[in-house]
Parts: sequence; C-alpha cells; structure tokens
Amino acid sequence: MKITFNGGAREIGGSCTVVETEDARVALDYGIKVDEGLSYNMPEDLDAVVVSHAHLDHSGNLLTIADKKIVVIGTRATREITSELLQDLIKIQKMKGNAVPYNFQDVCKLSELWLTRQSLALPGVEVSQYPAGHVLGANMVHLKTRDKTLLYTGDFCVHDTEILDGVDVDALPREPDVLIMESTYGGTSRPKREELVKSLFSKIRETMKRGGNILIPAFAFHRIQEMTRRIDLAMGAKLLPRYNAYYISGLAHRITQYYHDNKTLLSKQVNKQANPFNLQRVRRVRRIGQIKEPAIVICTSGFGHAGASRVLLSKWAGNEDNAVIINTGYLPPDSPLIMAKEGKIVDNGKSINVNADIEQIELSGHADQEELIDFVKTIKPKRTFLIHGNLDQAQALSEKISKYTDVEIPNKNESFEI
Ligand SMILES: [Zn+2]
Repeated sequence: MKITFNGGAREIGGSCTVVETEDARVALDYGIKVDEGLSYNMPEDLDAVVVSHAHLDHSGNLLTIADKKIVVIGTRATREITSELLQDLIKIQKMKGNAVPYNFQDVCKLSELWLTRQSLALPGVEVSQYPAGHVLGANMVHLKTRDKTLLYTGDFCVHDTEILDGVDVDALPREPDVLIMESTYGGTSRPKREELVKSLFSKIRETMKRGGNILIPAFAFHRIQEMTRRIDLAMGAKLLPRYNAYYISGLAHRITQYYHDNKTLLSKQVNKQANPFNLQRVRRVRRIGQIKEPAIVICTSGFGHAGASRVLLSKWAGNEDNAVIINTGYLPPDSPLIMAKEGKIVDNGKSINVNADIEQIELSGHADQEELIDFVKTIKPKRTFLIHGNLDQAQALSEKISKYTDVEIPNKNESFEI
C-alpha cells in the first residue's frame, strides 16, 4: 500500500490523501483551501473518492472530477450539503470576479456520480464508514485491502454535542496497520462543552441586561442549526430571557431542510423529536431591515467577511452596550473578526473603533488533545499519520502518543510505502 498526502498535511485546508494498491487508487477527501478557491493540481487518476464530510476543505474540489469516471462515496447528507456549498462557492467566486468553469449542471453531474452506501467493495479494497460526530453526515473511513487495514478519521468529535452523538469508539475496527488522524487541537485542551455553553449564556444575559445588540457570526452548515436551536431552547427553558432573536442566511435555511430529511443521523434524543428544527423564538428574516433592535442575531458569514455579519459588525461594533460572540477557534488572518478583537475594523475605507464586547467562545466539533490521545490508546494503530493540523499542534500530539504508536507528521505530497 502506498499513501500520498496531497493536501491537509501540516496545515488545515485542501484535505486529500491518496491510498494506492495494485488494484485501486482511492482518494480520501478532495478539498480546497477555502481562501484560495479551486485547485487544479489534484490527483485525477483515481478509481474512487471517499468524502468524509461536506466541509469544503474536504469536498470543495470535487467539481474538477465531475466529468471523470470516478466513483464518489459519502452519506446522502454529505452529498446534498456538498451540492449546496459548491453552488454557493461558484456564486462567491463569480462575485469576486474569479473565473469558474463550472455551473449548476456540473454540481448535478457530481451528484449523479455519488454513491451513498455506507460500505462498498471496490476491486481489492473494501470501504466501510462510521459516524464521526463532527457535523451532520460526517464519517470516518475504514479501508481493507488484501493485506492491510487503514482507518481515516476525517474530522471527528468524541463527546456528544447538542444535536449529534460523539463517535461510537466501541464500534470501530481495532489495531489498523495505519491510522490517519486529524490533529486540529492536537496541542490544546478545552473546557467541557457544558462550561462553554454556560459562558455563552452568561455573556448573552449580561448584554441583554444592558439592552445591547448581540451579533453571533456563524457558518451556514451545522453551526447555525446548532446555535439557533440552542438559543431557541434556552429561551423556552427561561435560561435566557425573551428578546428579539433572528437568524439571517438563505443557505443555512436550505441546509436545515437536510437536517429534517436525515434525522436518523442526529443524536438519539433529537431524533425522537418530531420537528427538532422548527424554531419557536428565533425567527428567520431575509433582510437586516426586518430586525427590531435590541436583538440577538445569528448570521453568515462565519468569519465576518461578507453578508449580514459584516454589515452588523460595522453597525454595532462602536457601541459599548453591544456584544459580538465569535464561536469559531480558528480565524483567518484577514478576518474582520480578528480585527474586531484587536480593537479596530475598517468599513469601506473608514476606520471604526471597536467598543463592543468581543468574546470568543468556541463550541467546536473536533476532539481535543486528551480525546485524541485516548482515541489512539483505544484503537491501537501500528502506525499513525497526523494531518489536518498546524505543525505545532501535530507535534504536541505526536510527543504524547509516540509511546503507543509509530507517529509521522507527513509533508505535503510526501509518500509512504506501508
Ligand atoms: Zn470539518
């Protein structure tokens, strides 16, 4: 077996690992670097691509193979949500004035190639998938060739979150020859989720008490579904006072439909409910003009670059009564939210001093260092490759797990014979 790390090595973005045997060439994920757009230097001589989940850093390059005779494998939810995100990607690239040689028909072609089976036998390779707990439809991928086994984690979450159960580690195959594992938080320990939710609610209550506006920029896929439901339920349970509450994102609204359609993938508790995403207190609005202040608003884009979150950031950042709650850990260097944290944002060339309360409370769908170590101890891989993490995070984790497994932190385009 030969493994080549085409992307997502020593970095986050552009995930793609190719596993080659004498029988078949299979890519695990086919992503883009979200701030760079489509890449045309991807491996194309493939029999199959297994897509672990719909985040574009794992799926965003699939349009470049929509014309090839390559089998694409992933859950139905991943297929539908990837299609939505790819259409949005085409729209954004065109708005930025970048040439995109793809259109809606190519997205449909890709959907037609896509097999949604949980397991599949290719010549000489058996593919099986296991829920990864990271976002709706996310899977880990197990490959069994004639003489080797490999487990690819994709992005994963061990602990239960509000709408998804964490990975069922007991169900996973043990002692693979190779484990390819994400290391996003390889060097980081995070507080428990309940603690983070408590801090979130206390920050919201504090701002409501002084009659301020609260802006929560969030991603259209998974984060908006999770955050709107969380706040809706908290208001229902009187953990938060009633307040004008809205979300703005057509894309998130469309994606929520797939949550209804794929309810069995959600946590057992949520799956039991008839309409878990029919919100009672958080209203969807299409335009900022429909907002009655003071309000709490959850909206795209997640990093504050565009959309309602950019407009509201400029509008609300100057007032000390307001709050902006960032719920992602990673922020790209040019993100308006980083500038807000540093005290100054720029809107149409005009500089605005940030007086609003800027708080970062990360409710992540990734395993942290302790959980990653426990995962390795339980799975007992012979050899482990750490990907999907910056070098410092991967190195910190490598030191901790090297007594349990042989560890490598591959370079981009590096190959290994197993
Ligand atoms: Zn992801």
